[in-house]
Amino acid sequence: MGIKRQYLLIGVLLSILMPTVSYGKFTIEIPVRVKLFIDGEEVSSSKGKTFTRENPAQFDQTIAVIEEASTDDLNRAVDLAREVFDKDKYGWVTNYRQRLRILYKTAEILREEAERIAVTVALENGMPIRQARAHVLAAAEIFEFYAGLADKVYGDSIVLSNGNVSLIFKEPVGVVAAVSPWNFPMTQAARKIAPALAAGCTVVWKPASYTPMSAMEIYRALAKAGLPKGVVNVIYGPGATVGNELVRHPRIDYVSFTGETTTGKLIMQQAAASIKRIGLELGGKNPGIVFDDASIEEAVRAIVFGGLRNTGQACGAISRVLVHESVHEKLVNRLAEVAKGLVIGYPLDDNTDMGPLVSKAQEEKVLGYIDFGKKAGFKVALDGGKLSGGIYDKGYFVSPVIFDDVDPKSRLAQEEIFGPVIAVIPFKTEQEAIEIANNVIYGLTASIFTKDPARALRVARKLQAGTVWINDAYTQPTEGIWGGYKQSGIGRELGLYGLEEFLEIKQVYVDTTGSLDRPHWRTVMKIDKL
Ligand code: NDP
Repeated sequence: MGIKRQYLLIGVLLSILMPTVSYGKFTIEIPVRVKLFIDGEEVSSSKGKTFTRENPAQFDQTIAVIEEASTDDLNRAVDLAREVFDKDKYGWVTNYRQRLRILYKTAEILREEAERIAVTVALENGMPIRQARAHVLAAAEIFEFYAGLADKVYGDSIVLSNGNVSLIFKEPVGVVAAVSPWNFPMTQAARKIAPALAAGCTVVWKPASYTPMSAMEIYRALAKAGLPKGVVNVIYGPGATVGNELVRHPRIDYVSFTGETTTGKLIMQQAAASIKRIGLELGGKNPGIVFDDASIEEAVRAIVFGGLRNTGQACGAISRVLVHESVHEKLVNRLAEVAKGLVIGYPLDDNTDMGPLVSKAQEEKVLGYIDFGKKAGFKVALDGGKLSGGIYDKGYFVSPVIFDDVDPKSRLAQEEIFGPVIAVIPFKTEQEAIEIANNVIYGLTASIFTKDPARALRVARKLQAGTVWINDAYTQPTEGIWGGYKQSGIGRELGLYGLEEFLEIKQVYVDTTGSLDRPHWRTVMKIDKL
């Protein structure tokens, strides 16, 4: 046997034993081993327990084996974060310049590595590679933004009418439990970790179990940027056990959670036991309101982008289209046409517009709503659903479905589906549109399409939503804010408000008189007579 043939055989054998996934110049050997990140080290579970993650676009392929944190691991992670914070180890709490430099460096590393990391995000989340690239860069931008705020945590001072001074200090809230979702795995985590670190907090982070590798990219970037040991500790495991143990932990000061509203309610109840501070970013059932004077083409493009990006698995997705009756037919026809033209395919294919859903459970949930809509007898403007044949047979691929003339009170128009399903609801008057838009338990986002600026602002003021876009959808400036009204959450992420979430406010009152005769003492107690 020639030497060349021997090498060839070894190569074939290796590729069978160690499968790989390739995109461009990047090759990932799978399954990737994802470890816990505790005290600056990548470590195995103390109980030796692991779980796996499959490729949502090819479910017979295991792409990651993840270490599952035991209670001991979790306690150690919290204790370390606590110790760094309470003892101001490495000057973490006081030295904001150190924090600024590390956050900038993390942003730089993520940006330099964005192409490679995007492959990982696409692989584990199912997000199309073009979108994954932008996603990683958006996460880098969040780290950069909060780096710029680390040295700008200003307090205040008030010279009081009695001549004394009240000093207002802003201090880090303490040890933060960050629990993040899978749908935008890097940005959702960055919105918690970057401002928490900028404020001088320490963090124990439980990422979503479907996207462990994206989390690993963030903790590796932080470590490479020089993050001191124990400042951020990352534990993996099921939300119901590991996640819940973390958010209930008595040594945690603040819980920053993004996920489903039902999970958020549970966490809020549990936080009440010790009055933990909480930030909740929860679900949405977001309306896109198309008025009679809107540019239909603009509205359709925005709705397709806002409603179907990430296969509709987005908290701020437009999932209800409220359209004036005079442009109803025109809008629905064009919407169906454009949505039908989307390329649904393998996430690591440059042409793909929509990848698979994240999991079997998510697929079943979405198909259940499609089934419900059809059985309820709503008009189907675009028929889609489970795809089959070729690569579709091995992934959770579902094509968009648009229901028309949907009853605003029905489950289709009230519940978060988190998939490529849009409910169209016609309306007659501006007031009716506002009422339908607001008549859900959620209040995360809304879009208004009109050429009338006065109407746009009038309606925007009346909508119960944390973000209202006028003639656009789903763009989230880092400098802006993100958060919900009603059951879409508590608190705000991003921008300056996103930093405030991680700060306590302390007043220090200074007597400047030195006098023993204080009017406020004298009024209440006759101390000088005692
Ligand atoms: P879940 O609520 O199921 O999970 C979110 C995170 O919480 C995961 O890390 C999960 O772990 C963990 N978790 C689950 N149960 C518990 C628990 N009892 N205690 C503590 N942690 C728990 O949401 P999804 O992951 O399904 O995310 C999708 C949801 O997130 C949607 O409802 C969406 O609207 C919302 N979302 C909101 C955003 C916003 O900004 N408002 C942004 C993005 C998403 P595990 O992965 O192991 O289950």
